[in-house]
Amino acid sequence: MRVLVINCGSSSIKFSLYEIAADETLLLSGRIERIGEPESFTLFREHSTTGKTAEAHQTTAVNDHTAGMKRIVDYLRAKLGSMQSLQAVGHRVVHGGESFQAPTLINSEVMESIRSMVPLAPLHNPANLIGIEAITQLCPQLPQVVVFDTAFFHSLPPHAYRYAVPEVWYEDHKVRRYGFHGISHQFVANAAADHLQKALHELRIITLHLGNGASAAAIRNGVCIDTSMGMTPLEGLVMGTRCGDIDPSLTFYLARNSDMGLNKIETLFNQSSGLKGICGVNDMREVHRLANEGNVQAQLAIDMFCYRICKYIGAYYVALGGLDALIFSAGIGENDSLIQQIICNKLAVLGGSIKQQHTQSNTTGIMDISANNSKVKVLVIPTNEELEIARQTAAFIGPQPRRPSAGK
Ligand code: ADP
Repeated sequence: MRVLVINCGSSSIKFSLYEIAADETLLLSGRIERIGEPESFTLFREHSTTGKTAEAHQTTAVNDHTAGMKRIVDYLRAKLGSMQSLQAVGHRVVHGGESFQAPTLINSEVMESIRSMVPLAPLHNPANLIGIEAITQLCPQLPQVVVFDTAFFHSLPPHAYRYAVPEVWYEDHKVRRYGFHGISHQFVANAAADHLQKALHELRIITLHLGNGASAAAIRNGVCIDTSMGMTPLEGLVMGTRCGDIDPSLTFYLARNSDMGLNKIETLFNQSSGLKGICGVNDMREVHRLANEGNVQAQLAIDMFCYRICKYIGAYYVALGGLDALIFSAGIGENDSLIQQIICNKLAVLGGSIKQQHTQSNTTGIMDISANNSKVKVLVIPTNEELEIARQTAAFIGPQPRRPSAGK
């Protein structure tokens, strides 16, 4: 089955075209960045089974998401002849609120529900909706399935997802923890179980998605029981530009005692905090470079980043009743061996340790970095949200009826 995956962000669109059969093959992919700017960046990639990739890019303006989607569909039509050879489109939608716990077929009611959740995800859900609307317009015959970033967390028990605030806020305003990065946490948890040749429901796993945005999840018996992001993606770990956990009183203190209004404070928590707030840069590679030059603030940023993660690992260890596997994923998690090492040095108390030297272990890109005597498996797993969306979309649509073969 051919599935097109669309991931519309606030200023970007990514797409991947997969053939999902016994094997999963990436056929075409690409992205458009800096949408709305004079020099938008477009990249298209044609993949081949030999591993060679043909690339084409351009830097002409793409005025809005609708124009971006048209550019992508034009490219797909040129490559495929027509869109008829696709069976479905899977869209990433960031916020599914409490209504959506599984992949869902798009119809006008579902669109309305996604729209009603815009106040919960004002940057993301509107862009996601534009992607869906563009496909509806350009390829009305194609079934569209939405896969929610929040859905993996529907299994959280109330004691984990509720805040200790007046009950009426939950009833009237849906104030609760939702969690994000669910598609990534789900993908790497499944990949870990496959790699360890165990059923997911036999494992107690902590997954760390450490990119520019960062989150942790605790998974037991195949279901997620806790996660670090909350009502919005601001809660939890120290991130590139987001503060993660803070005392909520900080907001009121600043509003009363500085000339910043609430909007300004919210922007600063999201865009000028985290690593950037502490040492001025949000790219972890830059933070290391500064720390190596003796920059005290950069070292503090690394210490705080790792310490916060360790606090969550400790809490989830207790919540899970033990730990079988710790998974590192996303930009920092997959590439930063120093961060892996600092965090894993603290695992000794839980019986975990890692090898001093590690090499890639197989073609999936998964690395087992745990020491031979470690009681906790420590795996580095490249995340692939697009493939997870393609899998969930294909599973939702179900097996396609076979076309009658000629002569029968
Ligand atoms: P997002 O999708 O949230 O933007 P990514 O998963 O792409 O984030 O991760 C981006 C971050 O990964 C960068 O900001 C950078 O800090 C970090 N990163 C990427 N490569 C490396 C590396 N080799 N070493 C350390 N950090 C890295």
